[in-house]
Amino acid sequence: MFLQDTAPIAAISTAPGRGGIGVVRISGQNLDSLAFALLKTKPIPRHAHYLPFTNENGELIDNGIAIFFRAPYSYTGEDVLELQGHGGTAVLQALLSNVLKQGKDIGLRLAEPGEFSLRAFLNDKIDLVQAEAVSDLINASSFAAAQAAALTLSGRFSSEINKLTEEIVALRTLVEATLDFPEEEIEFIEKYQVKQRIGQLVQQFEVFLTTTKRSVYLSEGLRVVLAGEPNVGKSSLMNALFGENIAIVSHIAGTTRDSIRDNLELDGIPITVTDTAGLRSTNDVIEQLGIGRTLLAIQASNVILDIVDSRKPESVLIGFSSEISLANKHVISVFNKTDLLEKNTTSSPSPNRVNVSALTGEGLCKLKEAILQQTGRQVGERSPWLARKRHVMAIEMGMDHLKQSYAFASEDDRVLDLLAEELRLCHFRMGTITGHMSADDLLGKIFSDFCIGK
Ligand code: GDP
Repeated sequence: MFLQDTAPIAAISTAPGRGGIGVVRISGQNLDSLAFALLKTKPIPRHAHYLPFTNENGELIDNGIAIFFRAPYSYTGEDVLELQGHGGTAVLQALLSNVLKQGKDIGLRLAEPGEFSLRAFLNDKIDLVQAEAVSDLINASSFAAAQAAALTLSGRFSSEINKLTEEIVALRTLVEATLDFPEEEIEFIEKYQVKQRIGQLVQQFEVFLTTTKRSVYLSEGLRVVLAGEPNVGKSSLMNALFGENIAIVSHIAGTTRDSIRDNLELDGIPITVTDTAGLRSTNDVIEQLGIGRTLLAIQASNVILDIVDSRKPESVLIGFSSEISLANKHVISVFNKTDLLEKNTTSSPSPNRVNVSALTGEGLCKLKEAILQQTGRQVGERSPWLARKRHVMAIEMGMDHLKQSYAFASEDDRVLDLLAEELRLCHFRMGTITGHMSADDLLGKIFSDFCIGK
């Protein structure tokens, strides 16, 4: 996809397959002549025109609605013409072929994937975060994720980033001015409490990061793995979690030879659950291969359910610590088969310890809650936006630079240039999230805020 390519583009914008309505969308810098050729009338912007769609020989393809959006008041910021016909594969293909044929003279071509949104971004109709939200909204697998993506698309996440960025720019303005005009001997740093302001900004970053990290689970989900010795009830728990027989349950140890995976949704978060071959030392070659896959599944997971039999609660994970790293993983100890214990002998649960019985279903709700808690979210919590890992990484990197700038602000002014550099890097990182970073922005701000020529 060429970023600078401004040739008009067209594509079927609705999903493949059959539906009541299908839309062919065209975007270009000037679509007047094409619109007239296609519609045999000059469309009034933002009006629904019900008319026949015909080919160049005047033969009818479909009857439908045409809506014309005059630049810049359109999704892409260019002229946009939408043709809403009936949602059949053949009719939409015919409509698109006709559009491409009639638009040949103005260089009309088939749009690349995501190209309408790319143009919206390049024409400043949306920022990078909003462009990503379009795709996240379309791909959302739960209502909660869709709702959060819609909020990001409406600009809520971007406006939070912009608020933080404004303060970074204000601080940079002060520091850069001090660097440029040291002879003025104005104690900018002291006067404008730069250190305190950076400190407050670090705190705001921390809150923002926590909320953003939680929202990522809505789109990326959690990978939960059921691990433990053979016969502790992993497959039974898998079936209990899904409410159906997904995995084979047997009292014969080593029945689960391969990892079994399925998806469920907990409070809007997509969860991939993997049942694994039991961990033990064995000479059975096939079982060894299964155990190898268990270790891989553990490595790829975010949450490990370390399942034990309540009657003999000993974790086997420790025994495999040389082969797997549990760093950055949430481990929940699951004490299964509590129905086999004497009454009132279950040990008291804790946030990372849950008593369950896969057989009776007791404790399953608590287990689901414990899984959800690993995301830091409360049950029923609504996310104010939907973010991606890329955003979290950029915020973390920005925050590191901010903390570093705080450290420099605490020292004497010989390190002012380093402080300035750290703020610049923080600004850059935040700018990569929305795609708005530009050195000109800062220069404009510096020269408009300070009467430097006085
Ligand atoms: P896995 O090898 O860890 O996957 O264990 P399974 O799910 O195959 O279960 C092993 C045996 O324990 C089977 O006979 C199950 O019926 C039994 N079992 C599993 N969970 C429970 C439980 O909560 N209570 C009781 N009483 N038996 C269970």
